[in-house]
Amino acid sequence: MDKDTGKLLQFDRQHIWHPYTSIDNPLEVFLVESADGVRIRLEDGRELIDGMASWWSVIHGYNNPELTRTLREQAGRLAHVMFGGLTHRPAIDLARLLIEIVPQGLRRVFFCDSGSVAVEVAMKMAIQYSYAQGDAGKNRFLTIRSGYHGDTFHAMSVCDPTTGMHQIYQGVLPQYFFADTPACRFSDAWREEDIHSFRQLLTEHHHSICAVILEPIVQGAGGMRFYHPEYLRRVRTLCDEFAVLLIADEIATGFGRSGKLFGCDHAGISPDILCLGKALTGGYMTLAAVLATEKVGHVISQGEPGVFMHGPTFMANALACSVAVRSIQLLLESNWQENIARIECGLRQGLEPCRTLPGVIDVRVLGAIGVVELAVAVNMARIQKLFIAHGVWIRPFGRLVYVMPPYVITDEDLSTLTRALCRVVEMEFPK
Ligand SMILES: *Cc1c(COP(=O)(O)O)cnc(C)c1O
Repeated sequence: MDKDTGKLLQFDRQHIWHPYTSIDNPLEVFLVESADGVRIRLEDGRELIDGMASWWSVIHGYNNPELTRTLREQAGRLAHVMFGGLTHRPAIDLARLLIEIVPQGLRRVFFCDSGSVAVEVAMKMAIQYSYAQGDAGKNRFLTIRSGYHGDTFHAMSVCDPTTGMHQIYQGVLPQYFFADTPACRFSDAWREEDIHSFRQLLTEHHHSICAVILEPIVQGAGGMRFYHPEYLRRVRTLCDEFAVLLIADEIATGFGRSGKLFGCDHAGISPDILCLGKALTGGYMTLAAVLATEKVGHVISQGEPGVFMHGPTFMANALACSVAVRSIQLLLESNWQENIARIECGLRQGLEPCRTLPGVIDVRVLGAIGVVELAVAVNMARIQKLFIAHGVWIRPFGRLVYVMPPYVITDEDLSTLTRALCRVVEMEFPK
């Protein structure tokens, strides 16, 4: 490490918060010089094969020439302009594209800053939907355990109570309803009892529940679980039966990650409100979108106060919208279904050897997501160093070691990635 790098890292350590690590005794961070394709290059020249797609977002790889060019050109025309009273082509193009590809019926698009904000917006829409119908008391939410919806307050209130650390915020977080985590796995035979807890809560409390919010099929940061499509179909039917809106949080699952363009597509259902984020801009900028049905839009507009009460400063940022349009085009122009199937196959083969390792309790793969579940939590500081020594970037949390690489990863790099993962898990938990 040269002197300059050392100084930079020292400053970082003394002054900058990183996510989920202590200020006094922080986990090590590594200085990135640049990134290209699936390779993250550190300041000291080491290159790492990226297994994280920067938290689901960088689907086309880093420094994608098309996306970089789009961003440059847009910056020369219009980087940003307020969205109150003004509009622009990138926002219109993006809305048009999204309406075309999302599950049917979602035709009203609200752009906002990040995933968590999109969840806030979706929840506010549901509350306003009830309020506009003169039912202000129908303002609570039902979700399922092991979920994750973001770090802002209302998003936190529907995160899994344990992993979401609800006890810290007791007294501030609203208390909502949590159905049991779906137990039936994606490719298990469907078991009717799986929906019982959800149905019971909805039957008992639907008068006070304005919406159900959940991640379709793939539960991400709350547990990396893949549940049965029939569960989602039942949820849709029950929501209709009890006149409760369904919010699908596809911030992680959107844009092909699970093998379908959207998680909802596995079950052939449409939600009333849909949240998108993460891969929306191919990982170039922060941007999120909330899509709603015409009905949700009209009901909100026809009741009091007649408008939806949200309007962030950077709403529909033109740079972000333009790069999102190009990213979605790139995805649709590619042979993405076949490509995700290829990655799924590589992950299945590559992670299979983990299954018999000491300390491993489960290995599961869906689409371009591979998960190795351990019996006990990893030692983060140690395992991170080991991964880097093996030339890969994998960042586990708790008992979960998982990868969701950029879609452009080659078979060879994928095999290096999974081999490193297996090897490091083996070193963590020797026989
Ligand atoms: C990441 C994530 C969020 C939060 O998005 P941010 O952009 O980090 O605020 C919400 N829901 C799901 C399912 C996510 O994976």
